[in-house]
Amino acid sequence: GAKAAGRGSAMRFRPEMTASAQSRLELEVELRRALAQGQISVHYQPRVDVASGRIVGAEALVRWHHPERGMVPPDVFISVCEDCGLICELGALVLEKACAQQVAWAAAGRELTVSVNLSPRQFFHAGLIDEIDAILKRTGCDPRRIELEITESVLLGHDDRTVAALEALGRMGLRIAIDDFGTGYSNLAYLHRYPVDTLKIDRSFIRALSDRPAITEMIVTMCRMLGVTMVAEGVELARQLDWLRDHGVHEYQGWLFGPAVPPDAFDKRWPIPALTAACAVPTAPGTV
Ligand code: C2E
Ligand code: MG
Ligand code: MG
Ligand code: MG
Repeated sequence: GAKAAGRGSAMRFRPEMTASAQSRLELEVELRRALAQGQISVHYQPRVDVASGRIVGAEALVRWHHPERGMVPPDVFISVCEDCGLICELGALVLEKACAQQVAWAAAGRELTVSVNLSPRQFFHAGLIDEIDAILKRTGCDPRRIELEITESVLLGHDDRTVAALEALGRMGLRIAIDDFGTGYSNLAYLHRYPVDTLKIDRSFIRALSDRPAITEMIVTMCRMLGVTMVAEGVELARQLDWLRDHGVHEYQGWLFGPAVPPDAFDKRWPIPALTAACAVPTAPGTV
């Protein structure tokens, strides 16, 4: 049906296809142009340490600046990229930009872990390891400063292959996060089998804090038992942050602290914490 036709060009359009299938084909054609013409960029959302309030990382989020439609949100075009096979090209572009940004920040004295979303199809792509390795080498990026975010759907039904791929990425030094944690159908009893560093608690559980905090509490308890870094997504309210602090959640992202912005806006809005203050420490009385 629409999916198969989506792999080809608009030539394969058939009348029985829906308007939405046609608009997906149009999107595909426009996405190929967007990739070729540099309309794709990456914005970064701060990831913040709950206890100290310091920025410890940034999530790379892809953006498409369409010349007529304006900013097209990733929820609209990521699935089209998955269906038409463009996702690996798009994913590689985002990863390369994110690694280069990590290196630029490190050079400016800002050691941030940059997280990058991987779609399921990209994760199971045979060339993934070599491609990531090539990107790390080209950019000179420290793999320990890159965290790959996968969704629970990746953990479904591919047990041995998935564990092998995750272990290979781990051996390269990369960190692994499960994104939107709690929304999928992963068998929680087997979660400990996967070499995962971080669980990102889906924003629906943060939103639920006002009326159903017990579920969120259960998820936090489970993360703590697994010994992984816990990150809360979609934190919009001060009282949500208070709850996270009270319950020992390590890090958070959300509009309360700030949205995803281009890298230059990131540095303007959140300047690098005064290096002068850090340098001043050794000259304080009683030291040196
Ligand atoms: P995600 O990875 O779970 O990213 C979090 C999304 O929540 C982002 O939406 C972010 O802008 C939004 N967000 C952040 N803070 C808040 C908040 O306080 N409240 C609310 N309501 N939303 C918040 P965005 O950038 O539109 O991305 C949507 C999804 O598209 C991402 O969800 C991710 O699954 C996918 N995506 C984005 N960039 C990429 C990419 O480079 N590759 C792949 N494969 N997927 C991507
Ligand atoms: Mg994510
Ligand atoms: Mg998420
Ligand atoms: Mg998501």
